[in-house]
Amino acid sequence: MRLDTDPYLARYAARVRGMSASEIRALFAVASRPEVVSFAGGMPATSALDMEAVEQVAAQVIRDHGATALQYGGGQGRAELREQLATVMHHEGIPGHADDLVVTVGGQQALELVARCFIDPGDVVLAEGPTYVGGIGALVANQAEVRHVPMDADGMQIDALEEALAVLEREGRQAKYVYTIPNHQNPAGVSMSVERRHRLAALAETHDLMVLEDNPYGLLDFEGRTWPSLRSMIPERVIYVGTMSKTFAPGVRTGWVAAPRPVRDKLVLLREAADLCPSNLTQMIVETWLTTQPWREQIKRFTNVYRERSEVMLAALDRAMPAEVAWTAPQGAFYVWLTVPPGIDTSDLLAKAIASRVAYVPGRGFYGDGTGGDQMRLCFSYPPTERIDEGVDRLGELLHTELELVRAVFGDTTPPLRARSSQRGGSVGG
Ligand code: PMP
Repeated sequence: MRLDTDPYLARYAARVRGMSASEIRALFAVASRPEVVSFAGGMPATSALDMEAVEQVAAQVIRDHGATALQYGGGQGRAELREQLATVMHHEGIPGHADDLVVTVGGQQALELVARCFIDPGDVVLAEGPTYVGGIGALVANQAEVRHVPMDADGMQIDALEEALAVLEREGRQAKYVYTIPNHQNPAGVSMSVERRHRLAALAETHDLMVLEDNPYGLLDFEGRTWPSLRSMIPERVIYVGTMSKTFAPGVRTGWVAAPRPVRDKLVLLREAADLCPSNLTQMIVETWLTTQPWREQIKRFTNVYRERSEVMLAALDRAMPAEVAWTAPQGAFYVWLTVPPGIDTSDLLAKAIASRVAYVPGRGFYGDGTGGDQMRLCFSYPPTERIDEGVDRLGELLHTELELVRAVFGDTTPPLRARSSQRGGSVGG
């Protein structure tokens, strides 16, 4: 049997045949070595959790409700948990009722179930460019055609969305939905302005559009501000996805989707076909966490950690980066989105970066169309501040060296690119 080809290839379903692990995955195995400062994974600072409290909660669930916790449950998720998740939504000013919610295995399963619910092969989904890798994955796995709408410091450019809708209309097609991460977007680190949210909602009405509103980071604003949700504006057109991964812990794999009732019913059927039901054990841990612990305080503790780390990263970037490099300045969550000058390819550069003991995610992963080669995502949520300084210094040094190489080859023709962080935002997308 040849090892360089897959002998099962002809047998796979069409939607699986084109799937392959990227070479980048192999590099990330190296990036997890302790000497490498990794800005790659979007990992919450779980060490900032009150572990004694978590231990108490987990012990209480087993001690008081062990037999139920270790049993199967219903496909929609526990009503008691859904009540609590609605409270989490209300804390952010988002309307939600326990009956409208389906508990999922993280937000990721919600994205996949929604794609499976709506997408036939070739259907178009409009998504911010760049957007969440796992969101693209869920769409591509269901054979959607992803069309990107560019962003700037105020999120998705609604003029560009309007243009994309006009193009679709000319083609006689209709987007199945618009996928957006309006708050502290992954990977761009920007939020959609209130005015644009209203414009998006109005366009959804005039163009008969559904919107998938993915909101893992809304409660992680550095100043504790919240933004008006699309769900509050056009509830019958919005499928809303939430998760406890960033406000509690990704290890409990607890997310949810809030959808209009008919859609909710389909999602329950789809999830039962996939995995029967969410884990009662982790649902009850989350439920008990939310009913017995000061979870709002814990969120503040997380955001304080992230604010400090973002400040350290932005200061380090200012200090270490060549003048031609631009980046966004986040107001919450985990991410800085960086743009490098022409001539440098962030996918090609990754191996060198890892050899220099620093890792990031190359920009191409955040687009479905192969663009983004001049961009990268830096995640500051996980490494402690002194490691952030070290990592940015290493990356800055590498980019200085690369730029010298580019100049040696092309001459000094690379124009100073775009705004630096002091101008908040910089350029984000396309
Ligand atoms: N949406 C976005 C935008 C994300 O960044 C993530 C996690 N990185 C998710 C959804 C899914 O997270 P989880 O499955 O852990 O809830």
